Amino acid sequence: MADIPFDRQFEPSHGKAVEVAPGVRRLTAPNAGPYTFHGTNTYILGRGSVAVIDPGPDDPAHLAALLAATKGEAISQIILTHTHRDHSDGVAALAAATGAATAGQPHRTSRALHAGEANLLDASSDTAFHPDVMLADGDRIDGEGWQLEVVATPGHAANHLAFALDGHDLLFSGDHVMAWSTSIVAPPDGAMADYMASLARLLDRPERRYLPGHGGPVVSAHGFVRSLMAHRRMREAAILDRLAKGDRTIAEIVAALYRETPAALHGAAALSVFAHMEDAVARGLVASDGVPRLDGTFGPATAAR
Ligand SMILES: [Zn+2]
Repeated sequence: MADIPFDRQFEPSHGKAVEVAPGVRRLTAPNAGPYTFHGTNTYILGRGSVAVIDPGPDDPAHLAALLAATKGEAISQIILTHTHRDHSDGVAALAAATGAATAGQPHRTSRALHAGEANLLDASSDTAFHPDVMLADGDRIDGEGWQLEVVATPGHAANHLAFALDGHDLLFSGDHVMAWSTSIVAPPDGAMADYMASLARLLDRPERRYLPGHGGPVVSAHGFVRSLMAHRRMREAAILDRLAKGDRTIAEIVAALYRETPAALHGAAALSVFAHMEDAVARGLVASDGVPRLDGTFGPATAAR
């Protein structure tokens, strides 16, 4: 696989807000895990009257730390990158404690569920979030001494938003681009075609430094984004190669391509291959027995067709 220059060095400083850029503080929630790294990053934007980006999980200790970090200040806005529970479950308690207005997009899947298809991501999706302010691509959010531009970045989640901070060469990249790991792109919440388009979009933007939803900053962001795109293209090529060699199911392909990945992560790997498969079928690169399904049968799109 292509080498992605991951950076896993990170000091989470749980319970303590750390200034990571002028006017930007980061407070990492204590929800460490295989998909959350050291925990979800909650960002505090501005001084005095502040905005919070991603309150994180519904955790009384994290809420208390956030209120302590902003003692003497007013949290006036709560802005959400996407409705996965590790980012959004804490919205309700924070809004109740502060009266802050919420902004973002409600949960949605990237496509309708197929007949009989279960959404394996239901448990991690927060359908209870209904923002006071509905955000759309290109919208601007004003605060005291700062302005954000909303950058729609679907792929990891259909409603994923990133936020560019005016005049600071900074993008709050949520779970779209993270320095420590690739993002999970899993249907039906996520979609590979959207994800790749959202990566390409960032290359057309000027920001070179990202503050992600988990882990430390992404520096030299454009090079990093290019390596993420190359990684997915190589993964797609490997999948097409397995089909050419006779594999016909996602389970077979996962067994071949993820031999060195712990078996506990094979479910996530299957969803990732599924995301590639949907995209490859839509682009005519792969033949599918009916609508692409996780347990479907696939084959090379041969010249004979
Ligand atoms: Zn997350």
